Amino acid sequence: MPENMAIASVSSQKVSKNKRKKSSVSVSKTSHSRATVRRGKRTRRRRVAPKPRYAYPLDFFMWREPDFDQSPLNEEAAYKMRSAFGCGTASMFMPIDLVRAGTFVYYPLKGGIFKRREQVKYIVVHSTETGIPLNAKRVIDSWSSGGRRHPGAQFVVDRDGIVYMAVSPEYATVHVNIFKTLPGINNDNTVGIEMVHAGSQVYTNEQRASVVRLVSYLQDRFHVGDENIITHKYAQQGDHTDPVNFDWTGFLAIKNDFHKKAKETMQAAVASTHQEEATMTVDNASQIPASSVYLDIHRDLGKSQDIGLRKEIEVEPDVIQQFTKGEVQDKKLVPASTIVPIMTPSK
Ligand SMILES: [Zn+2]
Repeated sequence: MPENMAIASVSSQKVSKNKRKKSSVSVSKTSHSRATVRRGKRTRRRRVAPKPRYAYPLDFFMWREPDFDQSPLNEEAAYKMRSAFGCGTASMFMPIDLVRAGTFVYYPLKGGIFKRREQVKYIVVHSTETGIPLNAKRVIDSWSSGGRRHPGAQFVVDRDGIVYMAVSPEYATVHVNIFKTLPGINNDNTVGIEMVHAGSQVYTNEQRASVVRLVSYLQDRFHVGDENIITHKYAQQGDHTDPVNFDWTGFLAIKNDFHKKAKETMQAAVASTHQEEATMTVDNASQIPASSVYLDIHRDLGKSQDIGLRKEIEVEPDVIQQFTKGEVQDKKLVPASTIVPIMTPSK
């Protein structure tokens, strides 16, 4: 679950000294108390509800992320991109490309967004744990209703396996309480994934399969090691328990297996491209740049300054087609989570 307290806790000494004075004056007129406050040489007693104190100032947050082209890609390119996502080989595509391909449903968060000040280092998996069952859109709506400063996460995976992108992961949201996380884990260097789950609900296979793919994609996209795929429970030890009732060990086993196979597929694609290049003559080399462009794109991903930034190279649909050639099994459009079946845990 996201962090209400993350933005309203612990101290920021700068929080409106003026306001504090005012409130202490008015409070002292109307009440007596046990709390003692030392200010200079004077000691006063007063009773005050703890003031909300914020991890980030209000003007730190953006109301919305900048516009981007959301127009759907042509059917074939879109299908192939979804297929690549389904196979775990979509890391050269930007998240906003995957919106255009229909892999992610963009359901924009209003407020609660800020610019990352660090590179993505961790992926944090949560469960929403709303009091009553709420679908992904309602969860995002509930965050957005909090004004300019509120919790949120980049992705919400609904129970039917649909992946909602609330904001591109190049932007940060408040999904962990930076005053309670393990050292080095914060909102600037994490991407949050919320699984829709409440009470005794059981995670669905579609949901689990989508989270496997999403984690695998983000992991490759942002170069996050297996050891940095963590739960909120781990990030905030003793403070949070989500994802609740989720078989994390089983999930990691499936995710690692999926990720490993995807890497092998990628390596095979790269190897066959090398072979293809080796047999090219100088004359025809310029005719088929697509797979080379794919490789160039991939090499670019290794440069840290390119990661997650929207300015990076736009992917041409024919590159997409070239890359995913041979991986499309079916022309029928199906949700990303079902393109390649994933074995579900036996337990
Ligand atoms: Zn959480």
